[in-house]
Amino acid sequence: MLKITVWNEYKHEREYENIRKIYPDGIHNCIASFLEKEEDFTVRTVTFDMPEHGLTEEVLQDTDVLIIWSHALQEEFSEEVAERVKRHVLSGMGLIALHSAHFSKIMKKLMGTTMTLKWRHGDREKLWCIAPTHPIAAGIPEMIELPQEEMYGEFFDIPKPDEVIFTGWFSGGEVFRSGCTFSRGYGKIFYFQPGHEEYPIYYMPEIQKIICNAARFCAPIRASRTYPECERVKHEGNVQ
Ligand code: ZN
Repeated sequence: MLKITVWNEYKHEREYENIRKIYPDGIHNCIASFLEKEEDFTVRTVTFDMPEHGLTEEVLQDTDVLIIWSHALQEEFSEEVAERVKRHVLSGMGLIALHSAHFSKIMKKLMGTTMTLKWRHGDREKLWCIAPTHPIAAGIPEMIELPQEEMYGEFFDIPKPDEVIFTGWFSGGEVFRSGCTFSRGYGKIFYFQPGHEEYPIYYMPEIQKIICNAARFCAPIRASRTYPECERVKHEGNVQ
C-alpha cells in the first residue's frame, strides 16, 4: 500500500463563504476522498493548525508521498518543520506541491530559486499535455479545459525541471510550465499548477487522475529510506 499524507493550510475554506461552498470540508478532504477510492492507497489528512502542522517525525516516517496545498500562511509555516520535510524528501519521500504551494517554504528550500511567477485572477486555462509518454500523463487527454482558473504565467523562476509534462495556456496569452517533475536527493517531486481555491478544480476527474498518477510516480523506489551522505564517502571498491 502507498501511504499518502495530504496536508492543507485549511484557512480560506473556513474564512470565506464562497470557498467553503466549493470545499465544505476543506481542499484536503476533497483530495483525500478521491485518493481513497484507489485500492493501493491509504490516505491521511493533516492541517496547519495541528501541533507541528501535523507533519511530525512520526507522520513523515510513515508517509510515502506527501501532497501539499498552501497559500496564505507560507511565512507563518515553521522553519523547523520545513527543514524536516526537506530531509524526508532527500531521503526518498515523494512530494506533490499543488497550485500556490510553489511558494511554500518546503518548495523554496528544495528548489533553491525564488519560485516567483506572474498571476492574475479570473482567467481560463487550456492545460496541454506535452509529454504523453510520461507515467503522470497515463490516460490523460491531450488537452484539459479549465473554464475558470487563476492565471499563472512565465517567467516561473524554478530550476530546470527533469520533465515538463503539462503546459498551461491562458486567455491573456500567457503560458506556464504547469506540471513539472524534479529529483532532489532520493526523492521525486511533482509541481502541479491547477487548483485555485475559488474554483472546483479538484472535482474534475482528469485532474484527479493526474494527482493519482503523480502519487504513484513519486512513490519511493529504494528498498529503504536513507539520507544521502553530506560528505564525500571513500568507496572501498576493488580497483584493478
Ligand atoms: Zn490561487
